[in-house]
Amino acid sequence: MSQTIPEPVPPSGGFSFDALMEITSRPDVVFVEGHGSWLRDHTGKEYLDFVQGWAVNCLGHCPPVIADALRRQAATLINCSPAFYNAPMIALAELIVRHSGLEKVFFTNCGAEANEGAIKLARKWGALHRGGAYEIVTMSHAFHGRTLATMSASDKAPWKDLFEPKVAGFPKAEMNDIAGVERLITEKTVAVMLEPIQGESGVIPASLDFLKEVRALTKKAGLLMILDEVQTGIGRTGTMFAYEQAGIRPDILTLAKGLGGGVPIGALVAAADVCCFAHGDQGGTFNGNALVTAVGLAILEEVGRPEFLQNVRTTGAYLAQCLRALSKKHGLGEVRGQGLLLALDLGAEIATDVAAKCFARGLLLNAPRPTILRFMPALNVTREEIDTMIEVLDGVLGGEKGR
Ligand SMILES: *Cc1c(COP(=O)(O)O)cnc(C)c1O
Repeated sequence: MSQTIPEPVPPSGGFSFDALMEITSRPDVVFVEGHGSWLRDHTGKEYLDFVQGWAVNCLGHCPPVIADALRRQAATLINCSPAFYNAPMIALAELIVRHSGLEKVFFTNCGAEANEGAIKLARKWGALHRGGAYEIVTMSHAFHGRTLATMSASDKAPWKDLFEPKVAGFPKAEMNDIAGVERLITEKTVAVMLEPIQGESGVIPASLDFLKEVRALTKKAGLLMILDEVQTGIGRTGTMFAYEQAGIRPDILTLAKGLGGGVPIGALVAAADVCCFAHGDQGGTFNGNALVTAVGLAILEEVGRPEFLQNVRTTGAYLAQCLRALSKKHGLGEVRGQGLLLALDLGAEIATDVAAKCFARGLLLNAPRPTILRFMPALNVTREEIDTMIEVLDGVLGGEKGR
């Protein structure tokens, strides 16, 4: 019964991609090394990285802070099962509590799992305290992850008829329209859930007024406010959490991306009076393992320094100023976002093409929408690196216009 397995044919640099399930189109290169804002592919070509693992690598590639934490913890204790406490798990939870003003933390492996947990917690709370209310008002163009419930809570056009039937109970309101949110609230409603800045849909900020209005409305109606800070949290917008800038605090907060700086960890954070999971309602094999929580702890200690966050604000203002100048020079649209989560509206459906041309010139940029470029560099990106990025983009945009 011997079977001959064909030799893989290497399409690029000796690599074959055949064994990988096709889930997206990827450029024909393999990244082999990264330091700070720079990546190197298998041919030795260097790239300036303004994507950083999708706003994940908050300290850049392979920062000593993470490498040291990993090395130290890997030699001490990696995993002792979620049925037991470990020391970094406790320390990281305490630090998140101190920074967030909320009281309880459950660690997850990613953002979708944190949001899935937030939805479960809100539904349990609704079952106990609001007569079985389970609906969660979410926003148009929201992105909350790729589990079935978080896809249902999201509003991505290509997902509309995918993987039916969806999880029910996620009516959609328009961002920054509090009357629209209010109209959707019934006795079935248990929470309002939103991103302070919608990242995946093209960096669309909730106004500070809207965040305050949602807070006031949910408080008045006895509902929970859930903030998905998977992308905006951990210093990305210049404060530890974006909600601080509105002077509010949610009942439930979700984190991931920057929390691990590149290793997979997320967190579901909640006010004490919301926490109503009974034993067995929530859990997970890898959740809160010592290796990833040790990394989260090292990152939060670094990002939580006031000078670090101040630097994100000044660097973010500099990047925004450079992008505005570029927009003016090439007659493009608005620059929006906060801190180091920014977008440039190109005013035409050229973003994918511009990002591909930048890639060819050794610059990684993301085009979340056909007209939008998104900038999410390492939080410690330098002005020189920003200048280099602008130079490359300027060249590509000049070429675009000249065609
Ligand atoms: C990335 C993201 C998620 C999903 O996180 P994963 O770690 O990919 O599961 C959820 N919400 C927001 C706002 C995100 O940016």
